[in-house]
Amino acid sequence: MFVDIANIHLKAGDGGNGAVSFHREKYVAAGGPDGGDGGRGGNIVFLTDDNLSTLADFRYKRKYFAENGANGGAGRCTGKSAKDLIIRVPRGTLVKEAETGRIIADVSGDEPIVVAKGGNGGWGNMHFATATRQIPKFAKSGNPGEEIDVTLELKLLADVGLIGFPNVGKSTLVSVVSQAKPKIANYHFTTLTPVLGVVSMGEGSSFVMADIPGLIEGAGEGVGLGHEFLRHVDRCRLLLHVIDASGSEGRDPIEDFNTINNELKVYSEELSQRKQIVVANKCDLTDDEKIAELKEYFTGKGYEFFPIMAPIAEGTKELIDFVAAELAKLPAIKIYEPEAAPVQDFTFKSDKRTFKVFVEDGIYVVDEAPWLLKILETVDPDDYESLQYFQRVLQQTGIIDELIKQGVQDGDTVVVYDIEFDFVS
Ligand code: GDP
Ligand code: MG
Repeated sequence: MFVDIANIHLKAGDGGNGAVSFHREKYVAAGGPDGGDGGRGGNIVFLTDDNLSTLADFRYKRKYFAENGANGGAGRCTGKSAKDLIIRVPRGTLVKEAETGRIIADVSGDEPIVVAKGGNGGWGNMHFATATRQIPKFAKSGNPGEEIDVTLELKLLADVGLIGFPNVGKSTLVSVVSQAKPKIANYHFTTLTPVLGVVSMGEGSSFVMADIPGLIEGAGEGVGLGHEFLRHVDRCRLLLHVIDASGSEGRDPIEDFNTINNELKVYSEELSQRKQIVVANKCDLTDDEKIAELKEYFTGKGYEFFPIMAPIAEGTKELIDFVAAELAKLPAIKIYEPEAAPVQDFTFKSDKRTFKVFVEDGIYVVDEAPWLLKILETVDPDDYESLQYFQRVLQQTGIIDELIKQGVQDGDTVVVYDIEFDFVS
C-alpha cells in the first residue's frame, strides 16, 4: 500500500537541570557555589532519504522522543547535551502542524531541518553568586523540549506529471522515456504507487516525470481512487494529459479530457490552470482522420498536441524535446516556505498556569512555570511594550500577587528564568 500521509507525535529532549553544589576541599573553609549547568535536550531533525519513497514506516511508529540533556554536576561540571533524533523521510515531505495545518518545513533539500527544538539546560548555582549573594542555594531547571503533533504529507518532486484516465498508456510512456519500470497492464488502476522517472536529455540535463495513478470520475470530490494522488501533481511545473486517441474501451477521448479537467478544478483551481500538453496515445489503433480531428480540436483550444504510440516510442522524442524546452522557460519546482505560527492569544487559565515563587538570599525566584518559557522567548527586555506585556502576564496569572504575598518590596530582585529585574509596584 502506498502511504503518503501520516500523523506522528514529536517530543524534543528537555534540558538538564542546573546543579546546586558548593566547592569542598580540605582546609578550605567555605567554598563558593560550583553547581554546573544542565545539558541541552536533543532536537528532532528531519532529513531526506532517497531510498524512501513512501511514509509507510510512520504507520507503525508514531511517537518520537529525543533524549533529555543530563543534569549539571558539582565542580562546575556541565551536563552532557543529548544527541539529536534524526527522522528520515522521502524527499518532498511536508511537515505540518497537525492542529492548524500550517507548514513547518518542506523536507526537499539536503539540509537537515530542526522541527522540534530541545530545551536549553538550566544554569547551575555557580552563575548566581554575586557580591551580596554568596551562597545561592538555587539553580534553574532545564527548559522543556518542544512537543508537537505533526502531519507528514508527501508531495513528490517532479517537473512533469502525467494525468489521464486509467489504461490510456501513462505508465507505458514513462517506461519508454526513462529508466523507471512502472507496472503496465491492460486493466484499470495498475499504477497504485506514483513512480518517478528521470528523463535524461543528454549532456547532464534531465527532468523528472511522475506517473501518477489514473484519475477517475469523482476523484476530485474524494470519490474512489485518485483524489489522494492529486497532491503529487501539486508541484509539477507542467502536466502531460494523456488520452486514448483510439477511444478503445468505447470511450470518447475529448469527453475523458474534459472529465479529468473538471476533477482537477474541483481539487484545485490553481492546478487546473497549470500548463497542459495533450498527448494522444494509441494512435496505432485509430486512423489519420481521427487523429487530425483531435488535433484540430485541441490546437483550436490552444493546447500543444502530440500524437504518439507509446510502446514503440513513436512520437515520444518530439514530445520529450518539446517538454524539455518548455521546462527551461518555467520557474523551478515549488518549495513550500514555512508558515509563521499564528500570533498566540494567551488566555490565562489558572489551573494550567502553575508556578512556584520562593525567596532565596533575598532574591525572589519564579520557577516551575514551563508555560512561561514560551512567553519569555517573545519578550524583548529592551522594548518597553514588550516588557509591559510581560508585566501583564505576571499580573494576570497571579505571579505578582504571590510575590507580594511573600513580601516583595520595591527594588527587590526578581528572577524569572533568564530574566532578572527589580520589582516596582
Ligand atoms: P496507464 O493505466 O495509463 O498507466 O496505462 P498503461 O501504460 O498501463 O497501458 C494500458 C494498456 O494499454 C497496456 O496493455 C499497454 O500495453 C497498452 N498500450 C499503451 N500504449 C499503447 C499504444 O500506443 N497502443 C496500443 N495498442 N496499446 C497501448
Ligand atoms: Mg499506469
